[in-house]
Amino acid sequence: MATLILKRGAERRIRAGHPWIYRGEVADLKGAWSAGAAVDVTDSTGRFLGRGFYSPRSSLVCRLITRRDEPVDAAFVQRRLEAALQYRRAAGLVGAAYRLCWSEADGLPGLVVDRYGPVSVMQCLTLGMARNAPWVRQALERLFPEGEILRLDDATAARIEGFDPVRETRETELIVDEGSMRFVVPLGAGQKTGLYLDQRDNRLLVGGLAAGRRVLDAFCYSGGFAGHALAGGAAGALLLDSSADALALAGRNLSLNGWAERAILREANAFDVLRELEAHRERFGLVVLDPPPFTRRKDAVEAAARGYKEINIRSLRLLEPGGLLLTFSCSHHVTPALFEDICRQAAGDAGVHPRILATLTQSRDHPVVLAIPESRYLTGLLLQVP
Ligand code: SAH
Repeated sequence: MATLILKRGAERRIRAGHPWIYRGEVADLKGAWSAGAAVDVTDSTGRFLGRGFYSPRSSLVCRLITRRDEPVDAAFVQRRLEAALQYRRAAGLVGAAYRLCWSEADGLPGLVVDRYGPVSVMQCLTLGMARNAPWVRQALERLFPEGEILRLDDATAARIEGFDPVRETRETELIVDEGSMRFVVPLGAGQKTGLYLDQRDNRLLVGGLAAGRRVLDAFCYSGGFAGHALAGGAAGALLLDSSADALALAGRNLSLNGWAERAILREANAFDVLRELEAHRERFGLVVLDPPPFTRRKDAVEAAARGYKEINIRSLRLLEPGGLLLTFSCSHHVTPALFEDICRQAAGDAGVHPRILATLTQSRDHPVVLAIPESRYLTGLLLQVP
């Protein structure tokens, strides 16, 4: 096995628990290596730090998969996936749809597995995982002998890592329960692996907040927030998304649950519609802002912050007295503290003085790794204006 030798000092972050190694931190690569295969990682004095898959194309050349001198093989992947399932069973997170494996948080960097009913959707995010996908398949077959496996790699990650993404399709769609709602899961045809599972807990929260309120779900995708709000007794809902496919899916979900008549769907840029609603002095009792990441790069955080600020100013102005704003960022460079600051500035500009009823994050099947701040990527606030 080849050995990746770090520069002096680069081991500090690794020792503190962070598993990522950037190209600039590497002093040398010794021995015969192959792209995507496991390498040993040592500090500059040759002391063993761990083992991970080598990604020569990416600036993130290695993510430690183990800190022990143990084989990384099919049995290893199986043990990690078993542990992931065990945690979720013990925590009561195993339902009709849940995330079984979340990359670093489950000790399998570069692998996501979501479960939808009997179907396991696996997503490879690194070259090493793509190359060793048969180990994952085998482990999933053992864990769920009755189930089906679908591989749906992320095209962006595949481009960065340098592998051909595998995207399998399935003939029939699935329908899964989430609280009192039922959702169509467009396996292979939708965003993410089908549903935004990271927002599950927050969607369920909305069900209990919406009674009697007029709701705006501004970046709705498959309509989960609006659907739960209507199920919770909302007076009506306006759903916006710039994607026609997303809106079609939202429409189907609302019909499936019997709420279509109380909803209006608009294919539009939410920035434009928020401005228009403000100009028309429309009022809502609950606004949900769950936009896509406005930046994936650290050097674009300022521009992203302006975007978040703008939609939050406008949404705060749309609230009736006592109105609620449920607002999120899923850009991992936008920390909870920064996001709160952006919302504070937005409230100042909007001339309102909301209080924070809850600070929110991703669902518990996407656990945050203490040593990896980037793993807390979803941050949100539930605000109420007087
Ligand atoms: N809240 C959803 C997930 C939203 S994902 C859920 O719980 O399932 C973000 C959505 O915003 C995507 O569907 C994307 O199509 C949409 N989107 C991206 N840019 C947009 C824009 N400028 N205006 C409206 N929608 C946008």
